[in-house]
Amino acid sequence: MKYRDTIEFIRSLYDTNDFIPLHAPVFLGNEKAYLNECIDSTFVSSVGKFVDRFEAMVAEFTGAKYAVATVNGTAALHVALKLVGVDERCEVITQPLTFIATCNAISYCNAKPLFVDVDRETMGLSPESLEAFLKEHTTMRNGSCVNKTTGKKIGAVVPMHTFGHPCRIDLIAEICERYRIPLVEDAAESLGSWYKGRHTGTFGTIAAFSFNGNKTITTGGGGMIVTDDEALARRAKHITTTAKVPHPYEYIHDEIGYNYRLPNLNAALGCAQMEKLEEILANKRQTAETYRKHFSQKPEIAFVGEPENAKSNYWLNAVVLENSDARDAFLKESNDAGVMTRPIWRLMNRLAMFEEAQCAPLENAQWLEERVVNIPSGVRP
Ligand SMILES: *Cc1c(COP(=O)(O)O)cnc(C)c1O
Repeated sequence: MKYRDTIEFIRSLYDTNDFIPLHAPVFLGNEKAYLNECIDSTFVSSVGKFVDRFEAMVAEFTGAKYAVATVNGTAALHVALKLVGVDERCEVITQPLTFIATCNAISYCNAKPLFVDVDRETMGLSPESLEAFLKEHTTMRNGSCVNKTTGKKIGAVVPMHTFGHPCRIDLIAEICERYRIPLVEDAAESLGSWYKGRHTGTFGTIAAFSFNGNKTITTGGGGMIVTDDEALARRAKHITTTAKVPHPYEYIHDEIGYNYRLPNLNAALGCAQMEKLEEILANKRQTAETYRKHFSQKPEIAFVGEPENAKSNYWLNAVVLENSDARDAFLKESNDAGVMTRPIWRLMNRLAMFEEAQCAPLENAQWLEERVVNIPSGVRP
């Protein structure tokens, strides 16, 4: 029982002998009241005041000019990519260390992902790896960045703020600008995370957040597109609501749209959760600090703290084990003891669908893949 100390420490944190999940939602505010209001009004579906209110709350909190609510984060990312012009003639540069949704959204646009490395410290897309890849493999053609090997346009760069830790997004934005590539942030995990005083998701052309059940706050299922570009925001709302042209009674749709609008019921939950966001973030920050102190006494386990210049939401706390054997032992011992832990995702380029994808050297991603484990991170009593 090599890790008994740490497992007991987690038990003491959550003050229970029951199973401890990685991240469970908490409903401590107006959730039930708003849901009842919704039901009483009969506006439970894609129209209603909570959808507008939820959008306004997220825009205000993040500092984005516009926010458009969607059925989930994957849908938000899909539409964000589509709106910056990603299609079958494109390739999209992203990180191999991410949740599958990033690559699914790219694939829904009929584009192909390309993988560049991550930073060890942030676990997010490395500006140096991005720049090296662009320098070596692309050329500018008619004002667009084109892959020299495939002749395809680089349609977007999609960095992801892993577990809520901001990547070095300002440098990435600067590179994208230089190469004229739209920057689409996968900020699904980083509501409440800031980089150099600016909220994640506001550095690029457009970004996506997720409100899935396991995220920092939840709407059951839900997502949000944010942007400062009014035209893009309008297009986002249009194509997520079946591209219906406003008319008092006629059904006229001017392109292939999607039924991606967040229902009012889910948005009601979202409004109540947004009201509690600061409290939730403070609770999670305290948990992270407690973990940091605990692991500072354990030379064999390194706690992943917030990167330089960043304020993390600490969505999922992560630790780095010495090697893959140590990781496997830690995973087995903790899960056997009813304390949920999970390894970081398998690298996207190792999944069957993306095996053929062009990759930069991925040393940091591979190093992290072998060692990183998430530990319980939900709001504590
Ligand atoms: C959660 C998540 C998404 C979106 O997921 P949904 O479940 O569709 O809301 C996208 N990207 C990443 C990295 C995520 O963690």
